[in-house]
Amino acid sequence: MSSQFRIRKPWKWVAALACAALAMAAATTTALAKPPQEGSGDLEVIQVRPNLYMIAGAGGNIAVQIGPIGVVLINSGREEMADKVLAVVKKLTDLPIRYIINTSGDADDVGGNAKLSKAGRTILQGAVGQSGVTEEVINNGGAASVLAHENVLLRMSAPTGKVSPFPEDDWPTKTYAFQKGYAMALNGEGIIVKHMPNAHSDGDSLVLFRHADVIVTGDVYDNTRFPVIDVEKGGSIQGEIAALNTLLDLTIPPVPFPWEEGRTLLIPGHGRIADDSDLVEYRDMITIIRDNVQDYIKSGLTLDQIKKADPAKAYRPRYGADTGSWTTDMFIEAIYKDLTERKGK
Ligand SMILES: [Zn+2]
Repeated sequence: MSSQFRIRKPWKWVAALACAALAMAAATTTALAKPPQEGSGDLEVIQVRPNLYMIAGAGGNIAVQIGPIGVVLINSGREEMADKVLAVVKKLTDLPIRYIINTSGDADDVGGNAKLSKAGRTILQGAVGQSGVTEEVINNGGAASVLAHENVLLRMSAPTGKVSPFPEDDWPTKTYAFQKGYAMALNGEGIIVKHMPNAHSDGDSLVLFRHADVIVTGDVYDNTRFPVIDVEKGGSIQGEIAALNTLLDLTIPPVPFPWEEGRTLLIPGHGRIADDSDLVEYRDMITIIRDNVQDYIKSGLTLDQIKKADPAKAYRPRYGADTGSWTTDMFIEAIYKDLTERKGK
């Protein structure tokens, strides 16, 4: 088993620069650092805060929070990467995995659920007899709990169309419903799981580490490309923009001291760690493209004509990674479908 990886230094802004402009320039340089390569088989481990790490390269980004009670994982990566992810976690701490939270039901976020939860241990073990905890309460065969929005379980257990169901071992063991969130006090940290309705899908959650001031955004924010709007799974452009605005409301900018490190850090679904200014740019970009498509629809253009008119032109060089499974045309088509179908309702 390969456990070769390197841990990058904590997120370091150039400290104590007297000039804010210089500091911002330095931040931009950091921001443009090459994102980790997915699919290369190598994992990259980045220390985001003293007790919080990001693992990149296992599918979607994985967040690892470590505290006295054990490990909380946000997402579990692709199935075939689970052994490598586990090796990384074991190298970071001897403590067991206690909780996995899924930000969506995508295969690159939930694929390691079975293996990683079984490698862990239920948080309620040893609590039998206390405060009404019975053996039945300890479900999942003593493995770590897996939490997601209930739509994730619905999709994973009975997906529609060509997609075959995920094995039961991968399913969430605990769900929360509707637009309500789920909150936990774990490892001396306030963890808030919040639903973002009909954005990338209908089961998106963001996970806010309130003390560490880190938000794990899920695929609503993917700074490697235009956001994947999974219309088949209930995604929509309007929900996507609403979700980015919700994220922005929760993201504290480096004000009033932009040269200091204090700010909310964002672990995106894919790509590099970001902050408020990156998110503002992304939200604005998505909003502008949505408005462009809307204008073309109003002028009576067909989908093909809109694609030719290239409403995302200005952003293609940065976000139009047309080599992957999500092309700019697919993004435009998802916006078009959402806007025209909405209009007909
Ligand atoms: Zn993803």
